[in-house]
Amino acid sequence: MSGDCIFCKIVQGEIPCSKIYADKHVWDFLDINPFSSGHALVIPIGHYARLDECPDDVLLALVKTLKKVAIAVTKAVKTPAYNILSNNGRPAGQLIEHVHFHIIPRQAGDGVIKFSNPVRYPTAQLEELAQTIRKLL
Ligand SMILES: [Zn+2]
Repeated sequence: MSGDCIFCKIVQGEIPCSKIYADKHVWDFLDINPFSSGHALVIPIGHYARLDECPDDVLLALVKTLKKVAIAVTKAVKTPAYNILSNNGRPAGQLIEHVHFHIIPRQAGDGVIKFSNPVRYPTAQLEELAQTIRKLL
């Protein structure tokens, strides 16, 4: 736990939340600044700043919870569509440095999230990058 982390304070009951689900690894609650009705957050109980710092067993619990909660949230707000989003690092838009996943229910044409135009690589550059990444796994 980190003393100045808002999510750690929520888990410890120091800050109230609209809790949906919790188990020994995860905590899930409604976002107080939702992008859409039903926007929920799923976080690990332990304080890890980024996804790549989370132990594998915690990540597995997070993903299982994402599935369970996404099904319930989308039924509650009557839409079959949703985005799962996790920002890791300030340039990616991470505001709270305690890894978290957003479940954002979507409606057709709601404009909640806009995707930019894709980057175009020359084919050789694409394969070179894939090769570099494979070596780093
Ligand atoms: Zn924390």
